[in-house]
Amino acid sequence: MSLPRFPFDNSYARLPEVFFRRCEPKSASTPGLICFNHALADSLGIDVKHSDEASLAEVFSGNQLPEGADSLAMAYCGHQFGNLVPLLGDGRAILLGEVVDAYGKRRDIQLKGAGKTPFSRPGSDGLAPLGPVLREYLVSEAMYALGIPTTRALAAVTTGEQVVREYPQPGAVITRVAASHIRVGTFQYLALQDDRDQLQRLADYVIARHFPNAMFEDNPYLELLRCVSERQASLVAQWMSIGFIHGVMNTDNMTVSGETLDYGPCAFMDAYHPETVFSSIDVQGRYSFENQPYVARWNLARLAETLLPLIDEDQDVAIEKAKAVLEDFMPRYDAFWLDAMRAKLGLENPEEDDATLLEALLQSLADHRVDFTLFFRYLYRVAEDPGDDAEVAALFRDANDWHQWSQRWQQRLQRESVPAVDRGERMRAVNPAVIPRNHRVEEAIRAAEDKGDFEPFHRLLAMVTDPYREPGEHPEYMQPPAANEQVVRTFCGT
Ligand code: AMP
Ligand code: MG
Repeated sequence: MSLPRFPFDNSYARLPEVFFRRCEPKSASTPGLICFNHALADSLGIDVKHSDEASLAEVFSGNQLPEGADSLAMAYCGHQFGNLVPLLGDGRAILLGEVVDAYGKRRDIQLKGAGKTPFSRPGSDGLAPLGPVLREYLVSEAMYALGIPTTRALAAVTTGEQVVREYPQPGAVITRVAASHIRVGTFQYLALQDDRDQLQRLADYVIARHFPNAMFEDNPYLELLRCVSERQASLVAQWMSIGFIHGVMNTDNMTVSGETLDYGPCAFMDAYHPETVFSSIDVQGRYSFENQPYVARWNLARLAETLLPLIDEDQDVAIEKAKAVLEDFMPRYDAFWLDAMRAKLGLENPEEDDATLLEALLQSLADHRVDFTLFFRYLYRVAEDPGDDAEVAALFRDANDWHQWSQRWQQRLQRESVPAVDRGERMRAVNPAVIPRNHRVEEAIRAAEDKGDFEPFHRLLAMVTDPYREPGEHPEYMQPPAANEQVVRTFCGT
């Protein structure tokens, strides 16, 4: 048996050394493969034909570097909960290199939890406990299946060693695949070096890699800001449309590619409430559900600050130009959000009053603590047959509110041109039946941690990666937690 073969082409490693530090993963005593994403590996051109589980575990634990890897830790800084931390960098992640996928897209391949790097904080171990690895695997692959831009999970392995957090836990490594791991914080880091040439080098690299059309604009760096802003407006609108709470939207956790990055304390809301927060460290609710678009805009303002010297030599001119882009963020976000929410309600022809209809609905969902996912999922039945609304009505504490809103919605539907049968089908294709609900994720983690039983993990993974299908054989996977199953706090696991 031989190690998997990667068609590496490592462009980041060819950048100047200020961007990263070379380092190697630590060895694991007895690596064991939990999960390998064959479909993703295929699309990345990774050849595993002659690799058994043991050789996959060797590479994806970091025990052996595959041929052509040029492993390094990326440098970045970031605002964490609003405070600038001038040096963060990959403290527990090691980039193996890049491959160009079947669609011609360059992808980073990174190990997370494979030991210390030159950026690890003193006293930290660079490791990852099993729980957060399983959580990231489940949630990132669910997001992908939901059509939301995200980093992917290629492999998960156990290391055979213990990681000490509040209590000793099994250690694990996740292999993450990303359009790139360049963050707002990467720009902040280069800007702090006070070396305009290197900053421009990063900007040019990002333009070439992610936004090649920007090269042809009069002001490519302003266009870069506009492109990142557009991607983030779209991304956060998509999060909001499925009840996803990232939980730790620090500038070092926001990509410039527009992919969701860093699945730490993230969670999906069960009962709808705009102020929902799960993360144990987010005591002020800075990253609550409803704050996400505002935080994204705040982060983009930090990106804009770093780009000012590239946008115009005259700082006042640069500020004016950047401000115009930032002012466009909310209207763009609102437009993306409205589009996504209209689709959830089966509306295709935009009307002026749609936002009001949606606001009334969300108010009612919050008042009655209605399960966000189930409500939208069951709605297709009502769209097909207005009489078939018992399941939806039962989600409300007082069905009168539902009936009132439903009448407005039914009238609105009458002005649509799509036939009712098609409408139901289209609604089923945008309103998932299964999301990685917190209590199911916890259940999968508990079984793996306590008993080494990965069956619940694999079962949940199969369900959340086929999210629009109602799991007839396991209907309970659609349901919100019972009172005694609720998970109200999530943790970073760092
Ligand atoms: P995160 O919460 O994953 O965004 O991480 C924030 C920063 O802390 C990053 O620079 C990480 O590399 C670093 N970090 C988190 N956990 C660890 C760990 N176990 N060992 C070393 N560095 C870590
Ligand atoms: Mg991070």
